[in-house]
Amino acid sequence: MIPQDHPRYRSLVVRERLAEAARDGVVSLEGLTSHGRGEAFDYLIGEVTMPSARTAERTAAAMIRAARHPVISVNGNTAALAADEIAALQQASHAQVEVNLFHRTEERMKKITALLLEHDVDVLTGTAERLIPLSHDRAWSLNEGIGSADLVLVPLEDGDRCEALIAMGKQVITVDLNPLSRTARTATLTIVDEVTRALPAVTAALSDLTDDEAAGLIRHLDNHYLLQTAISEIATRLIHALD
Ligand code: ATP
Ligand code: MG
Repeated sequence: MIPQDHPRYRSLVVRERLAEAARDGVVSLEGLTSHGRGEAFDYLIGEVTMPSARTAERTAAAMIRAARHPVISVNGNTAALAADEIAALQQASHAQVEVNLFHRTEERMKKITALLLEHDVDVLTGTAERLIPLSHDRAWSLNEGIGSADLVLVPLEDGDRCEALIAMGKQVITVDLNPLSRTARTATLTIVDEVTRALPAVTAALSDLTDDEAAGLIRHLDNHYLLQTAISEIATRLIHALD
């Protein structure tokens, strides 16, 4: 049992949850290392939503609302950390949810689909095809899902798949605590925030954005500027960290 008065209680609980999900075969061992990288950046960020991320979250809501066919692409870490948050976002939008894995086995696909269904996510199922121009297993996706999507929300994405989706002409929104990653720099829009903070913020924005604000956010979207601002916010915090 993790003592509730431990100063890193929440972080330890999340680690325990991911370790359990790894033992269950939902999260891959590689996924645990990705989480570690994310945690390190979140420590630098201060485990809060930065102002630049708040803007990115509202812009994401505007883009999802404007999309013809938005799809949320879910991997093992996202399912283990944020199944309820995905369900809420799906209910607030017209987005479909597709499971897409880097370390893809039929068994993991089934386990993650079952976990999402338990949390009331309406998950797409069907026969996957090699639709994304990549050599590894992440090429597999559903024609009626990511294959025909105009916008894909991919939390915790890998850089080369993000590039491949962009090359297919899709808009890509990612959630990535590392503003320097290839994914962050390649996506149409990057939310530099922890996934369980980011998804509820996008869901909340979907219901309070006016049409005017939404149009303005889309018109002024500049991901390079948002990333630069996120880096400045982190740097300012670091300079004063020991004050
Ligand atoms: P890239 O391939 O884009 O250069 P990478 O190889 O460093 O990135 P990956 O393991 O491919 O990283 O992707 C995982 C990314 O997800 C990391 O950048 C990490 O910071 C981020 N990440 C991990 N956990 C979370 C989380 N809970 N919330 C948001 N981002 C996270
Ligand atoms: Mg990578």
